[in-house]
Amino acid sequence: DTVLEQHAFGAEVGRLLDLVVHSLYSEREIFLRELVANAADAVDRRRFESLTDSNLAPPAEAKIRIVPDKQASTLLIADDGIGMTRQEMIDNLGTIARSGTRAFAQSLADSKPEDRPSLIGQFGVGFYSAFMVADRVEVTSRKAGSEEAFTWASDGAGEFTLAHATRESPGTDVVLHIKSDATEYLEPMRLETVIRKWADHITLPITVAQDGKDQPANEGTALWRKSKSDVTEQSYKEFYRHLGHFFDDPWATLHWRAEGTLEYFCLLFIPGMKPFDVLDNDRDSHVRLHVRRMFITDKADLLPHWLRFVSGVVDTEDLPLNVSREMLQTTPVLARIRKALIGRVLSELKNRAGDAADYDKFWENFGAILKEGIWEDSEHRAEIAPLLRFRSSSQDGWTSLPDYVSRMQPGQEAIYYLTGDSPEALKTSPQLEGFRAKGIEVLLMSDSIDSFWPERLDSFEDKKLRSVTQAAEDLGKGEDLPDISPLLAALKTALGDSVADVRATARLTDSAVVLASGAHGPDLTMQRLLRRAGR
Ligand code: ADP
Ligand code: MG
Repeated sequence: DTVLEQHAFGAEVGRLLDLVVHSLYSEREIFLRELVANAADAVDRRRFESLTDSNLAPPAEAKIRIVPDKQASTLLIADDGIGMTRQEMIDNLGTIARSGTRAFAQSLADSKPEDRPSLIGQFGVGFYSAFMVADRVEVTSRKAGSEEAFTWASDGAGEFTLAHATRESPGTDVVLHIKSDATEYLEPMRLETVIRKWADHITLPITVAQDGKDQPANEGTALWRKSKSDVTEQSYKEFYRHLGHFFDDPWATLHWRAEGTLEYFCLLFIPGMKPFDVLDNDRDSHVRLHVRRMFITDKADLLPHWLRFVSGVVDTEDLPLNVSREMLQTTPVLARIRKALIGRVLSELKNRAGDAADYDKFWENFGAILKEGIWEDSEHRAEIAPLLRFRSSSQDGWTSLPDYVSRMQPGQEAIYYLTGDSPEALKTSPQLEGFRAKGIEVLLMSDSIDSFWPERLDSFEDKKLRSVTQAAEDLGKGEDLPDISPLLAALKTALGDSVADVRATARLTDSAVVLASGAHGPDLTMQRLLRRAGR
């Protein structure tokens, strides 16, 4: 092939390649996991595109082919996936799209050696792991729907080339020129072992060529279709990690089969760690929808926004394989499955909430997201409320609404809370003085959503939720305050239009003054947020 173009890698790629190659040397078999995962993702994406354009559908016998060639010292990984255009090869293989080198390097430095293999996948730098075992990598790809093919090639040292190529059908061939100290990856047996270890959960058939024949290397049974007793902890874990680019262990694994009016298999995970930024940038749930094993889409909103931290798969018998986008939006089948999924997740949370040490881990990762459910889901608001956890003015650790209610003072009518930027700052707020003096507990809230949801919940066990900044008169009830009206009048004159009123209060013990808001307007934190938003 004639070289068409020569490009330098994006600035961070060179450093990254170095890092990957050197820090993961002892774990280098994972290059195969990464390339196989990319191939499987590519076939999934092609299937997804075919929902709108059936011409793009992958062949029925779509698979991942692995072909070692000892003579040539090459290893081929070929797929029938979506493929890449020339520009996509430049963008996806020549620059770092996601978190970048610095974050990756930092995590590598902080990680235990056994966690490193999964870091690669998490940072979206999987492709570069090919250079752990290859001194040259050639990627020939043809995008589904296009006649053109290109070959991207690099020896991993700062530059890559692009040349015209031919490929009979859409998809991607990755050819690794295996390093002299990595020839074990030209042995079919060795390749099969690695696949069984890292990629057994992949449903697409994977074959390894041996004596000119393609031998199946993975079981290809969808993990979620097996019965629980046939799935090992390790397989659940690998599958979970593959699904979400995670590198930890799941906090919860929910696996069941529904039979009867609705038929589906479901495998859901609640992560053990909060993945960075993902959940803030995109509020949609990405639980994958399969129909009779076949991946259809991860955009079917199988769970609401407020459960978007849940990952997993639903595989149903109740939709046709050639389901269209319109059907996905209108079918009652998905609405009913969604309802069942929400119920399962909520009851798992409810069951585990009894064990504080266990539940707190979940809460610290995803509590702020769960609270969004109180704000936007009237149907589940009442079920979510007892699952909430709070810092408190009088308790260490986390506490719940039922626990708060059980500690309320005789005659106390409302549940008091205070919102602000950090729990530490809240603990010393002068807003709390009067409540402390009267032995009244106040819940302290510091997530940004906390300025919104309490109003929606309104009350819990018939007790109103009241922001302490709006609850001035609650404290003074039945008490005589000393007459300081001349002082109040003087202050009002001095402050003029910047305050609505200046009043005596029973809520302070040590401090002289405190800002308060009216009983009916937005509370103080909310006012600050509105001001920031320019309202
Ligand atoms: P990630 O898979 O986490 O995005 P990788 O470094 O593994 O990161 O791959 C980078 C990108 O290159 C992928 O997101 C995808 O767009 C593209 N890519 C890699 N391999 C393939 C393939 N076999 N077919 C199509 N696209 C691919
Ligand atoms: Mg990848």
